[in-house]
Amino acid sequence: MKVVIMAGGKGTRISSIASDIPKPMIKIEGKPVLEHEIECLRDQGFTDLIITVNHLGNIIMDYFGDGNKKSPTTGKPFGVQIEYYFEETPLGNAGALFRIKDKLTEDFLLLNADAIFEVDFNRFVQYHKEKGGIVTLFTHPNNHPYDSSLIFADEQGAVVRWAAKEDARPDYYRNRVNAGLHMISPEVLDAEITTSKVDLDRQLLKPLAGTGKIFVYDSPEYVKDMGTPERYEAVCKDFRDGKVKAKNLQNKQKAIFLDRDGTINKYVGFLRKIDEFELLPGVVEAIRKINESGYLAIVVTNQPVIARGEVSLKELEELHNKMETLLGKEGAYVDAIYYCPHHPHKGYEGERPQYKIECECRKPQPGMLLKAAKDFNIDLLQSWMVGDGENDIKAGIAAGCRTALIGQIAGFGQNGNFDSLLEFIGRVM
Ligand SMILES: [Zn+2]
Repeated sequence: MKVVIMAGGKGTRISSIASDIPKPMIKIEGKPVLEHEIECLRDQGFTDLIITVNHLGNIIMDYFGDGNKKSPTTGKPFGVQIEYYFEETPLGNAGALFRIKDKLTEDFLLLNADAIFEVDFNRFVQYHKEKGGIVTLFTHPNNHPYDSSLIFADEQGAVVRWAAKEDARPDYYRNRVNAGLHMISPEVLDAEITTSKVDLDRQLLKPLAGTGKIFVYDSPEYVKDMGTPERYEAVCKDFRDGKVKAKNLQNKQKAIFLDRDGTINKYVGFLRKIDEFELLPGVVEAIRKINESGYLAIVVTNQPVIARGEVSLKELEELHNKMETLLGKEGAYVDAIYYCPHHPHKGYEGERPQYKIECECRKPQPGMLLKAAKDFNIDLLQSWMVGDGENDIKAGIAAGCRTALIGQIAGFGQNGNFDSLLEFIGRVM
């Protein structure tokens, strides 16, 4: 499979770090970002590369050559085959794709050269094939959704709406951001484009929203741009701490499973109205610390209000959008949300019979944790379940996790009692 790496951009916002070298050659731990990318690809069998260059592209071509030479940094062979497309005039970030169209005869990976990533690419490609679309976007929550392009998708993962930075967005939205990694079918290049400069997102991908041909691939793996000096420093630190490699889903993950009501947001009994959703003090800081720690932050919540007919799935989604928006405004995010819509007791007015069942996901059953463990390759023994009730502790124990009880003295077999999520994070992590 061909991999096209777009290495043509100018890094204006981080020119304070490096103004005379192209952004992909900025070093992380002594090695250019692009070399980190190429190693990640090569190690997973992706060795057939096309790199598009313009701005200061000679520096890139001199360094990597055709991929057969040895790295000036590591002294080891790059171990890939590289072709280049040199843009004489600026073509936008996707114009070059039309110039190399004859080389792109089957689905290919399209990547930005100025992000650091550690991704299980075979898993991504497999998902793309299963969905059968002409584009799959690698999407993830990030710590600055308010100034990122947001992708809205339906339950099947088909993109229904694309809100670029400049577009209006709803008050509350899911923190699902386009990470700049894509699987693309050559069919995309059949689009009628009359400009020589082509913007990938706005001209090629966004118009596909709502057609059923473009899908999201939600992943908690490490993909970060280095668009500002602060973000660059953060990436360097994560790299040094080993957090970048660890998040590749080929590796076992560890998670903090979080109950929702009474742990993240104020407990108000059955939460039905969006106005009643309020984050507890310290929760933003606690979740931000989980994000920085390398643990996944995964919400697991019983929502019998669905079975009872008191809240619709749409309303529940909106509530969770509020949670994600409030967290995102302050740089925190959850990696996934699992909810149990079921309730076993039948015979109430207005109930939804299809959810009135004995299920395996309603805590104290461990079903949601087990599902998450499967979805994200989580080692449950290395993970924690944190909640404010007996059901949380029992579900955590049943899943094999360590457990923490928030806000009450009682003993349900948990490993520790804490006043709040923040206190738990402070003492345990
Ligand atoms: Zn259930």
